[in-house]
Amino acid sequence: MPTQPLEILGEVFGYDSFRGPQQDIIEHVIAGGDALVLMPTGGGKSLCYQVPAIARQRAGLGVTVVVSPLIALMHDQVGALLEAGVAAAFLNSSLSFEQAQQVQARLQRAELTLLYVAPERLNTSRMLGQLGALYEQGLLSLFAIDEAHCVSQWGHDFRPEYRGLSLLHEQFPKVPRVALTATADALTRQDMVERLDLGAARQFVSSFDRPNIRYRVVEKTEPMRQLLRFIETEHAGEAGIVYCQSRKRVEEVAEQLQAAGVSALAYHAGLDTGLRQQRQDRFLREDAVVMVATIAFGMGIDKPDVRFVAHLDMPKNIEGYYQETGRAGRDGLAADAWMAYGLQDVVNQRRMIDSGEVAGEDYKQVMRGKLDALLAMAESTGCRRVSLLGYFGETSQPCMNCDNCLQPPLMWDGTEAGRKLLSCIYRVEQASGLHFGAGHLMDILRGKPTDKVHQYGHERLSTFGIGADLGESQWRAVLRQLIARNMVHVDSEGMSTLSLLPAARTLLRGEGQLWLRQSRVEPAGSGSRKREARSSTRALAEASLNTAALERLQRLKAWRAEVAREHNLPAFLIFHDATLRAIAQTHPQEIKALEGISGMGTKKLQAYGADVLRVCAGPA
Ligand code: ADP
Ligand code: ZN
Repeated sequence: MPTQPLEILGEVFGYDSFRGPQQDIIEHVIAGGDALVLMPTGGGKSLCYQVPAIARQRAGLGVTVVVSPLIALMHDQVGALLEAGVAAAFLNSSLSFEQAQQVQARLQRAELTLLYVAPERLNTSRMLGQLGALYEQGLLSLFAIDEAHCVSQWGHDFRPEYRGLSLLHEQFPKVPRVALTATADALTRQDMVERLDLGAARQFVSSFDRPNIRYRVVEKTEPMRQLLRFIETEHAGEAGIVYCQSRKRVEEVAEQLQAAGVSALAYHAGLDTGLRQQRQDRFLREDAVVMVATIAFGMGIDKPDVRFVAHLDMPKNIEGYYQETGRAGRDGLAADAWMAYGLQDVVNQRRMIDSGEVAGEDYKQVMRGKLDALLAMAESTGCRRVSLLGYFGETSQPCMNCDNCLQPPLMWDGTEAGRKLLSCIYRVEQASGLHFGAGHLMDILRGKPTDKVHQYGHERLSTFGIGADLGESQWRAVLRQLIARNMVHVDSEGMSTLSLLPAARTLLRGEGQLWLRQSRVEPAGSGSRKREARSSTRALAEASLNTAALERLQRLKAWRAEVAREHNLPAFLIFHDATLRAIAQTHPQEIKALEGISGMGTKKLQAYGADVLRVCAGPA
């Protein structure tokens, strides 16, 4: 059996070359080194421990233990490995007592190449005892810690069970460890290294750019209609995820999408586990399901062909935004990250941080910084990608694949307007010693004689009516940008009243300038004309096949769906779309012709080769 990494890659996985840093990482780990792998979603992290696990097992070094936080993820990964002919199993709460015992017996005999375990299971004395016995015999080969950022509270998925993993190095000092994450945030990385005691590990840091994702932020006016237009004109019949902040909103949006003919499903932590599992399975297994979800959905969803991620509400912070949008386009084909964003989003997110009761002040401070980085990106008039990667410490050039690069925003001199708004807040406070909310301040600015204005005598203020030249929505945009720039504070308790922050001083004093981006009103239909030409990615890819090849592709997909159902696995784990497309195009007549096709490993060739030829040949 082959023992060289490249040979294993071809034989087991059917790929002909490594991507990016994979080869370096794999060689380092096979040689017994510790590694910290920082690679974006879709970068190919799994192979970084799967290939070493196979090589080391073949060298007589025994079992690799993979720590993974999610049951669904373990199930699919193990399923894919079994399909490829690798001895793999998992231990988690989804197994019956007997099943778990069987796995444990195989572990004891070191028959497994990879064992996936949940962290809470690994920390039990029973499990540690078993691993100890293997260790004594030199049959504990490697620890792989997937989603390693879960160990840090600064990350977006903190899991206390991960804290116990520091034990591994103490108990099994001779076993190499590889920790992997797609988290790019510097603070989280540092915390992770400390908590997992990986200070001496070699770090492999990839660029976090996801060049195939197009970033776009639109001003929120009528969110539901904006979302529908986006899906209908750009992603009809494709899989996507829509993130909303609350459970209630998730339900509403899913319903409205369904009413408009989109096959949408709702997902949030308030649904019972069975229903959630069922919906997640449908999303993974069927084509073209749109999942409307809270952030409870997503981690470990490695569906490769998610064509868009839409945010109907702003995420918590820039790291969350990066993670959530990162679920689009793992297959490397074009994908969209679309966000609708408005004043209320800024207010809500600031409030959530401020009113968090459990967290300490330093935690809040960190979270505020992360939110501000996201606001800066949302308000940015330059390249979104430059701003996003900049947060993660990477310098880059304008990308020509974000809204600002493709259609540079118009700017206007908002110095006057900003000053008027700030002094209005100032005067009101001076006159009454009270703070008021945005609606009332805008009424004063625009000179509207409401009851409340009379009640407080605010029509006598020098700022009454000085802003009649701008409409309400323009004032909201000005206010939003002042809040985003930390000149105005929104009170987090109760009334969302506004007050001035120190950063407002310069502008109030008549110094400095304020350039604001002009809201782009997207009239129905236009504005997306350019994108219509782009058409949906799938349609484009399939258009390049001739009619006969297209028919073969359809037959292959139908066959794959059947196999996937029988094996209880998502279709893409049997064969990727790209593999089926290559088969349909080459129109193989004999087994030999299937050998060079990417994604066709030895085991799959044996298991499915004959069927694939038969399906390709078509009905007799
Ligand atoms: P990550 O865990 O980093 O998000 P995965 O390990 O799931 O990424 O890999 C993403 C996709 O890329 C998978 O479908 C995988 O099969 C594919 N892939 C990874 N490495 C290679 C390679 N060297 N050649 C071809 N495909 C690869
Ligand atoms: Zn750009």
